[in-house]
Amino acid sequence: MTPLVLQSEPPLPEALPERIDTAIIGGGISGCAVAFELARRGIEVAVLEAGDLAAMASGANSGSLHAQIPMGPFIEAGEAWVRGFASTTRLLAASIELWRDLEALLATPLEVSLKGGLLVAENEAQLAAMARKVELEREFGLDSHLLGRSELREVAPYLAPDLAGAAFCAEEGKASPLLAGPAFATAARREGALLHPFTPVQTISESGSGYRLKTPKGAVLARRVVIATGADAGRTAALFGLDLPLWGEPIQASITEPVAALIPHLVYFAGDKLTLKQTASGGLLIGGGWDARLDGLGRPTVDGGNLARNLAVAARVVPVVARAKLLRSWPGLVNANADWTPVLGPVPGRPGLHFLCFPWMGFTAAPICARLVAQAITGETPDLAIDEFSIARYQRSGSMVVGSAPAG
Ligand SMILES: Cc1cc2nc3c(=O)[nH]c(=O)nc-3n(C[C@H](O)[C@H](O)[C@H](O)COP(=O)(O)OP(=O)(O)OC[C@H]3O[C@@H](n4cnc5c(N)ncnc54)[C@H](O)[C@@H]3O)c2cc1C
Repeated sequence: MTPLVLQSEPPLPEALPERIDTAIIGGGISGCAVAFELARRGIEVAVLEAGDLAAMASGANSGSLHAQIPMGPFIEAGEAWVRGFASTTRLLAASIELWRDLEALLATPLEVSLKGGLLVAENEAQLAAMARKVELEREFGLDSHLLGRSELREVAPYLAPDLAGAAFCAEEGKASPLLAGPAFATAARREGALLHPFTPVQTISESGSGYRLKTPKGAVLARRVVIATGADAGRTAALFGLDLPLWGEPIQASITEPVAALIPHLVYFAGDKLTLKQTASGGLLIGGGWDARLDGLGRPTVDGGNLARNLAVAARVVPVVARAKLLRSWPGLVNANADWTPVLGPVPGRPGLHFLCFPWMGFTAAPICARLVAQAITGETPDLAIDEFSIARYQRSGSMVVGSAPAG
């Protein structure tokens, strides 16, 4: 099968290298971004991707660039959780700083637009809950503030007129998921990375001072390995004898036909699950993490009831949605965990093994996470400390089981 991306480039190599300095398992935006960061540092790196490059969550997401504390867990898990989320908030904000210059760095358009995010409220109770969230966001360094009813009308006249107000987070925005993952792949390749789509890693064994990764196309001996397999991160960790509470959650998103340019912001709703933005081509991209279903083969499939509910919420907040024809809805598996904080960096007790798994919002976080993992690999001073994102936190809480890596 011909890979979807890189079609104007020379064909990708079929044969795997026998040895490589660093192998990256997973060619989503995370894996391709680490490949780019390592290759530009002169490190010999190969990406082994089970399917096509950037075609799973990295190609199926809604393209929101999130910085604010997510409202759902804020309400459910409360302030103790928020305190633990402070460093993740800083990571997201640092990543958005990188998105600002990413088109120049990767030398290609990505439809990056950073006009801010609006979390809108329909009543005073929601506004009151948001006020505390805004305070905490400001404490964490975000440029968030509350807007009253009339200010909101001025800033966002496309919203339903009866909304009570909003929280505005200036850092947030959007980018194209269809462009960003492939752009990292192309740039990584330009820097010398080897990209191997349709190359699933099936088994892993420790071999001398590295790891032997077996695929249907042969085996690669790698001194270092990065796990960047998104929703499959738990399963890949198991190949290394690690039992981690990371999983894939089926969710869905939709896009309408293009409408006149109207919505510069990323829009959320405090009353129910919603993200809404207008893409560069005019479509209204509607998501918010509504559940999809798994079919009999375990593949995600769109849930019609949740699609209707998602569209009703969108039309409640942004009335033009009711007049726009729906073009497409699609499901995807988002990489999930319970605390919403990433698993990043070296794996204790497994020399050369590194993790990159940013749950729920990994599109936003990919540029900074890739850079931090590359810095950990090369021993550079990191842009931000990542110790608290180590998988050691699962060891401490007793929710990780470390077995021995299987021989193979
Ligand atoms: C519908 C939807 C909407 C979303 N909206 C947003 C959003 O608006 N903003 C945001 O920030 N985030 C969003 N996300 C989350 C975001 O898309 C993901 O967190 C992010 O794409 C994860 O990137 P990744 O490269 O780590 O994983 P993935 O994109 O899942 O890539 C992992 C890759 O690993 C490969 N792989 C797995 N096992 C193996 C193996 N054994 N060998 C080789 N390769 C393997 C897979 O084939 C896959 O291509 C959304 C997700 C979904 C599904």
